[in-house]
Order: sequence, then structure tokens, then C-alpha cells
Amino acid sequence: MKNKCLYIQTFGCQMNVHDSEQISALLSGIGYQQTDNIKLSDLIILNTCSIREKATHKVYSQLGRIGKLKEQNPELIIGVVGCLAQHLGTKFHRKEDCLDFVSGTQNIHLLPEIINTLIKDRKKITEIDFHNSLSAMNIFATPGKDRISAFVTIMQGCNNFCSYCVVPYLRGREISRTSKDIIEEIIKLVDLGIKEVTLLGQNVNSYGKNLNDGSNFTSLIKKIGEIFGIKRIRFTTSHPRDLSLELMNCFAEEEKLCSHIHLPVQSGSNRVLELMNRGYKIEEYTKKIDYLRKISPQISITSDIIVGFPGETVKDYQETIDMMEKIRFDSTFSFKYSEREGTAAQKLEGKIPEDEKLIRLEKLQMMQNKHTLEKNIELERSLQELLVEGESKNSKSDLMGRTSSNKIVNFRGEPDLIGKFVEVEISKAYLHSLKGKIKKSKEACIVY
Ligand code: SAM
Ligand code: SF4
Repeated sequence: MKNKCLYIQTFGCQMNVHDSEQISALLSGIGYQQTDNIKLSDLIILNTCSIREKATHKVYSQLGRIGKLKEQNPELIIGVVGCLAQHLGTKFHRKEDCLDFVSGTQNIHLLPEIINTLIKDRKKITEIDFHNSLSAMNIFATPGKDRISAFVTIMQGCNNFCSYCVVPYLRGREISRTSKDIIEEIIKLVDLGIKEVTLLGQNVNSYGKNLNDGSNFTSLIKKIGEIFGIKRIRFTTSHPRDLSLELMNCFAEEEKLCSHIHLPVQSGSNRVLELMNRGYKIEEYTKKIDYLRKISPQISITSDIIVGFPGETVKDYQETIDMMEKIRFDSTFSFKYSEREGTAAQKLEGKIPEDEKLIRLEKLQMMQNKHTLEKNIELERSLQELLVEGESKNSKSDLMGRTSSNKIVNFRGEPDLIGKFVEVEISKAYLHSLKGKIKKSKEACIVY
């Protein structure tokens, strides 16, 4: 069978990145090999995001460009998957004539069948039913050559219905994979050289709720910790309301759990948090951060923040700024509120003008940059253990590794250190990375 070329472009979050890895693995089974060269492709898939309006615009402009490739090559198959595909369904075909298929968030496992059907008969296909099955999550994505770290989906969907968010509508209700399936996947990954796993779910704290077998997220972490060969465990994302004492204690007790938590706060104003249907008060959030820092002083804490939520007053916004000054996150992803169709927040009054949202966002980001740099400077002259992931993006003679706290460190080193744990001294802090230096001989810096 002659290999055909697949070009896949991913928009959005880590879940989408991992979905794309699974799609690539599945389609290799029917003879498609992934390419970076869009012009060589026989099949183009855009894995879309619709969390904010900006993400959807990016997809439309890319489809405009891709449509032109089809004029030159009528055999080319073009499809969209992911959240925007789920949202628009057949409407996507009406909007974008170049599309051959639209496949939703719970239909990845159907892609080989969709493509084979299209090869035989070019009629437009739409598959957006929710199957509520584990088929898609159980697809094994062989990690690329030289990969050290891999994503593992532990659950899909979300039951939280934060008032601004489309995820529960587009990814469906929460369903967890069995711990047996997850453990088997991780053991396979270890056999392929993986040392670090990031457990993925929209709200990992809810893991196990539908399984009725007594398992929960903490017990899952403990089981994964027992797997020989796994050296580091990360997870994302955790909802502040559901972050249990048991899970927080894992940061002190479970040696393999990395010292980093992404805990989206969204706002510092209790009034706005209530309108967002987040289910916690800022005092409860802050108390959890204090506890995490007490039991795990090295922990880095990152967050998501939305500015310009409907009805956010200058006072509410100031409360977010004050909260950030108090907590001093290691870094944050911050966004202008983006109205999404069908969400509860769409019906709220007091919409904030775009230019005002931008002013609020820029001020907040400037402050965060200051905190991030200060936090990084605190690490200067400290010794840090890194898992070396590969060549540095900055220079071919440098390597890049990550601290347990998820900070990127570039340092001079030889390629045979890739995949090893090494100890370096942090010599210089920047906003987005650190510079490190091997202090001992190459052999002596290897921790294991
Ligand atoms: N499940 C995760 C959680 O609860 O934090 C992440 C969900 S979402 C993919 C990532 C972030 O996008 C959210 O934490 C939120 O800050 C942001 N977001 C979601 N909907 C948004 C909207 N309508 N406008 C602006 N930002 C939004
Ligand atoms: Fe969206 Fe809230 Fe669910 Fe996160 S927890 S995916 S923000 S509804």
C-alpha cells in the first residue's frame, strides 16, 4: 500500500493536541503518514477550537487558504474535527464549500471509516453524535521518536457549566476511563521510552465519579506512581472547588507528582465568580493556595483569568488585580471575555466594550509579567533537577529541560543527556525561560 500524506493542524488546548496525536495514529493504520508540508498532503484535517471567538476566526482564515489548494488538486480530502466542528455540524459545509467532512469531538474513532467512504464516494459527511463511549479515549497514540513525555487522557467532558464556557455543550458530560485502561496505556508508553505523563481532563478532580468502583483522582495518581519507569506525573486541569485536601496532600506525599498546579481562578471578585457559576469564593481559593505552598514550598502555581466578564465593574477588576498581587502566580493565561452562543453568560447584561476589555487585559498582563520575572529571578543560583527533553529552540548546541515546577531551562550540554535527569545551577532568569549551567562533570550531573 502506497503511503499517503496527512497534514493536521491543531488549534486550542492540550486536549486537542492529544486528540491530533490520536488521529494521526489512527490514520496511519489506513496508510496516511503525517507531513509538515501542507502542499504534499492528500488529506488535510483542522482540529478546531471554539472556546473564544478569536480561535474560530483562525480556523476560518486557514480554511480560506486551504480551499485554494483544492482548486489545484481536486482529489484532496479536507475535514474539520474538534469543538468548532461539533458546534457547527452541517452548517460548516454550508459555510465552507471545500470541506468533505465534519466530525465532532466524540467521533475520532470513526475517522478511518469516514476517509475510506470518501475515497470511494465524494459526498459530504457529518458525524457529530455523542457516543458517550470510551472508544475515542482508548486510542493509543504511539509517541513520536525521541519523545520523553506523553499526554494521557483520563476523562472527557465536563459537568460544571461555568456560565461563559462552551465545553460542556461541545465535549459532552464527564466520563472517566477505567484505571485499568489508563495504567495499561502508561505501561505501554514506558516500554516506548516515556518517563513523564500529563494526565488530561477538563476537571481531573472529578475523575472516577461515573465508575462506581471507589476510584478517584488521588487513588489513580498513587497507582500511576507505582509504575516502574514513570518518573514524573503532571495533570491538567483541576477545578478549585473540587481540589480536595487528599489531592493537595499528594504534592507532599507522592514523590513522582511534579511541583506544579494549574488552578484556574478566573476572577478575584466573589460577585463575578458567582455570575460565572464557579462554585467557590476567592477566600476559599486563596486558602487552598496557602495550604499548597505550606506543604510544598517549591510548588509553582499557574492560573487562567478572564477580564471583562459581563457586569465586571472597575471595583471587581481591581479585586482581581489585588488578588494577583497577593497570590503572585508563577504565570497566567489571561483572556478577554468572549461571548459564546448558548452559554448562560450570553444572556447577562452589562457587556463590557472591547476596547475597555483590552485595557484591562494589558494592565493585568503587564503585572503578571513582572511577577513571572520576579519568580524566575528567585531561582537564580539555585540547583534544579531537570528532565532533559531535547535540543533548545534557541541554539543547536544547547539542550532544553524542564524543572518539576514546569519551568523551561536552556543549558549547554551534549545530546546524550536527552531523556536523563540532570542537575544544573540556574545562572540567569528571563520572562519565559531560565538559563542553566552544569556545575559538575557531565557524568556527575546525571541524577538518574
Ligand atoms: N476546564 C478547564 C478549567 O476549568 O479551567 C479549562 C477550560 S478552557 C479550555 C481554558 C480557559 O479558557 C478557561 O479556564 C477560561 O479562562 C478560558 N475561557 C473559557 N471560556 C471563555 C470565554 N467564553 N471567554 C474567555 N475565556 C474563556
Ligand atoms: Fe469550561 Fe468550567 Fe468545565 Fe472548565 S470547568 S471546561 S471552564 S465549564
